Amino acid sequence: MTTENVAAPINPWAVAQQQFDLAAEKLHLDEGMRRVLREPRRELTVHFPVKMDDGSVKVFTGYRVQHNLGRGPAKGGIRYHQDVSLDEVKALAMWMTWKCAVVGIPYGGGKGGVIVDPKKLSMKELEALTRRFFTEIEVLVGPEKDIPAPDVNTNGQIMAWMMDTYSMHMGYTVPGVVTGKPISLGGSEGRNEATARGTVYCIVEAARHLGIELDKAKVAIQGFGNAGSIAATLITAEKATVVAVSDSTGGIHNPNGLDVARVIQWKQEHGTVQGFPGSKDITNAQVLEVECDILIPAALENQITEKNAGKVKAKLIAEAANGPTTPEADEIFWKAGKFMIPDILCNAGGVTVSYFEWVQDLNRDHWSEQVVNEKLKGIMVKAFQETLAISRREKIYMRTAAYLLAVQRVAEATQLRGLYP
Ligand code: NAD
Repeated sequence: MTTENVAAPINPWAVAQQQFDLAAEKLHLDEGMRRVLREPRRELTVHFPVKMDDGSVKVFTGYRVQHNLGRGPAKGGIRYHQDVSLDEVKALAMWMTWKCAVVGIPYGGGKGGVIVDPKKLSMKELEALTRRFFTEIEVLVGPEKDIPAPDVNTNGQIMAWMMDTYSMHMGYTVPGVVTGKPISLGGSEGRNEATARGTVYCIVEAARHLGIELDKAKVAIQGFGNAGSIAATLITAEKATVVAVSDSTGGIHNPNGLDVARVIQWKQEHGTVQGFPGSKDITNAQVLEVECDILIPAALENQITEKNAGKVKAKLIAEAANGPTTPEADEIFWKAGKFMIPDILCNAGGVTVSYFEWVQDLNRDHWSEQVVNEKLKGIMVKAFQETLAISRREKIYMRTAAYLLAVQRVAEATQLRGLYP
């Protein structure tokens, strides 16, 4: 059984709206403001043809959603996955609005996705799909309007094709239209590691607050892609012990610790973490429930629900993924006294360094990795401490505190701009 079976019936958009409603209630937001912030500003659905290698033509469906543009242009990744839906993209776009507000970067929230299993495409087909999808959503995107980035199953190469497509249409090179690009094309130092690095900065702060000694802490990680595998490497550098990891094929467990560098190599060679020598194969569901101090969900939405939240042993949950915990599971964690670093704070390192990349591109500048990481640390630690302060002052769950901070900032910007016309 995979955790995807557990997750199937839960609609992420309903979850996102529920989380917003809770914050709106606590902030006593007026009815009109609630109506504005509760819905996306723009939703675009595209159906577009791609010529496959065998000569046939396939039509794919994709989306670009802009949830809010109050604080700046839309920002958010593009996901390629067979389970992408409009509701998922809407939820991810709304979470981006809050995320950019929590860390105080001048963006609104957007997100995109294509319904496709990219592993079933050749490189040529993947490039054709990417270029045509980006062309279709060009009515919305642009360096001053909406700036996509990588998400699940998209990467620097795909960003490079998107940037090139847009540049071809403009007639000149426009590096600032997407972030997460390779460094040779205007990408930022440290962008690849940024999401995981931000997560680990938050974990270090949370551990200090909770009195967890990282050199004695055991960590379990669900998802072993960009966010999960790099978080595993960086938390190991903090002397914590990674005892379990998983990818879409299943998980592995060794209570004495996994050699993360070797697991990464194993996955590269075998396409799965399973079968790693010296570890026991376990299911995706079991990874969430192993004996550990820190759990890092770094896969997809709705992985921790009311069905399995009670089985989570970790006292600190750090959401590198977007939306891994349902509101019902949050309730269980809150009652059990678990400490949550919510997604809109915990994985905001990615969008923060994307913002740095955009600033560098617009200024034709290039910063060193040291500068990027220092700036990132400053922003993440400040956002974490601001959220923690609200949580302690109001005696509320960290997710609710992060929402209060974010929604307040977006509501204030919306209020100040006024209602057009
Ligand atoms: P990725 O495609 O690099 O990796 C996803 C990983 O999750 C893969 O290892 C995949 O095998 C695994 N996976 C998929 N389904 C799974 C399941 N049911 N159980 C266990 N593992 C499963 O994607 P990523 O960029 O690392 O994104 C992971 C999460 O982090 C997503 O929620 C994404 O929205 C979020 N995120 C990513 C970034 C970023 O900069 N990459 C930024 C913010 C948030």
